[in-house]
Amino acid sequence: MSLIVKKFGGSSVANAERVFNVANRIVEDYKKGNDIIVVVSAQGDTTDDLIAKAKEINPKNASKREMDMLLSAGEQISIALLAMAIEKLGYPVVSLLGWQAGFSTDSNHGIARIKAVNSERIKNEIEKHKIVVIAGFQGLNKYDDITTLGRGGSDTSAVALAAAMKADLCQIYTDVDGVYSADPRKIPTAVKMNEISYDEMLELATLGAQVLNNRSVEMAKKYNVELEVLSSLEVKPGTIVKEKVKMEKTLIRGAAKDNNVACISIIGLEDTPGIAFKIFNKIAQYKVNVDIILQSVGRDNTKDITFTVSQDQSDAAIEAINSLKESLNYKDLSIDTSVSKVSIVGAGMESNPGVASKMFEALSDAGINIRMISTSEIKISVLIDEKYADKAVEVVHDKFIG
Ligand code: ASP
Ligand code: MG
Repeated sequence: MSLIVKKFGGSSVANAERVFNVANRIVEDYKKGNDIIVVVSAQGDTTDDLIAKAKEINPKNASKREMDMLLSAGEQISIALLAMAIEKLGYPVVSLLGWQAGFSTDSNHGIARIKAVNSERIKNEIEKHKIVVIAGFQGLNKYDDITTLGRGGSDTSAVALAAAMKADLCQIYTDVDGVYSADPRKIPTAVKMNEISYDEMLELATLGAQVLNNRSVEMAKKYNVELEVLSSLEVKPGTIVKEKVKMEKTLIRGAAKDNNVACISIIGLEDTPGIAFKIFNKIAQYKVNVDIILQSVGRDNTKDITFTVSQDQSDAAIEAINSLKESLNYKDLSIDTSVSKVSIVGAGMESNPGVASKMFEALSDAGINIRMISTSEIKISVLIDEKYADKAVEVVHDKFIG
């Protein structure tokens, strides 16, 4: 007998048929004598639809508190419907909102962080042998106001619960059957991984391989919660995400692209100490995350600094630099949003030379120009023209895996 946390995403409970499908999957494991806690997201596009409704009322200035009040309703619908389906199948069940399940968060509405899960109520219900169905994505702050955890936050709810309850297993059910070495809809030779490490998964999640929310992976790593990503529609094993995985023959686990990138160049800066500090200190004050940074070699007492940020933060970054116009005295400032970051990820590259050169060879053979390069112990990223992004993923994936 085990304690299992199961999370089902919005597409897995999108309509009545899917809700019953999920109810059946839950009941199967319950019948084997397991204790089951379920976390669900809002059905299908509900969250997007709710956001659209808010825009009809107040397109720009709806308060974050009321947005959270609104968005949390999506999950309230799905937990009630799923609980009803389980009742109909004849099994004991109770649905709980985030606050009833003991989720307390900070007060950052719209992107709140979980501070604790006070699991008394859940434990009581489990002792009564009930299946407990919990609304993901939501909690309560210290003022007793409802908060939400940010888009895709239900994954994090599930991991937090698994950690708090010391669950034996945390299963994340979705519409793909695991984590692939590339997007299987675009790269037919993409392979499903049996296992992947937290660090590798984090890199892929951050790159927009949309299987797991990256905060949830961070939390899983922190509390050492083993995850399984698997299909809600087909019954077969998925991909296990954990600390240490067996070394497979492949050096590279996956290749992915991120189009949500903007490249900003500041041209003709004075070549003196303190310039980079000034710029990035200001950008940090504007709460912008910088990714790749490149500084040119100084020439004629000037230098250029180029860096990337996510596209949604590019306005703030430009504003930050403009505010330095007087004191920096640069010649030109430009921004390019038609760029993409293509990366390969794999813990194996740490101890194997030649990975970067192999990647660059694949790109060069395809005639794709590299604008910037950055590396970490387990990742190599290149910045290229967005129009070649899919091609780049394909040739790089082919070179290492395909
Ligand atoms: N329903 C929320 C969203 O669409 C949370 C989630 O799906 O995890 O972002
Ligand atoms: Mg969702």
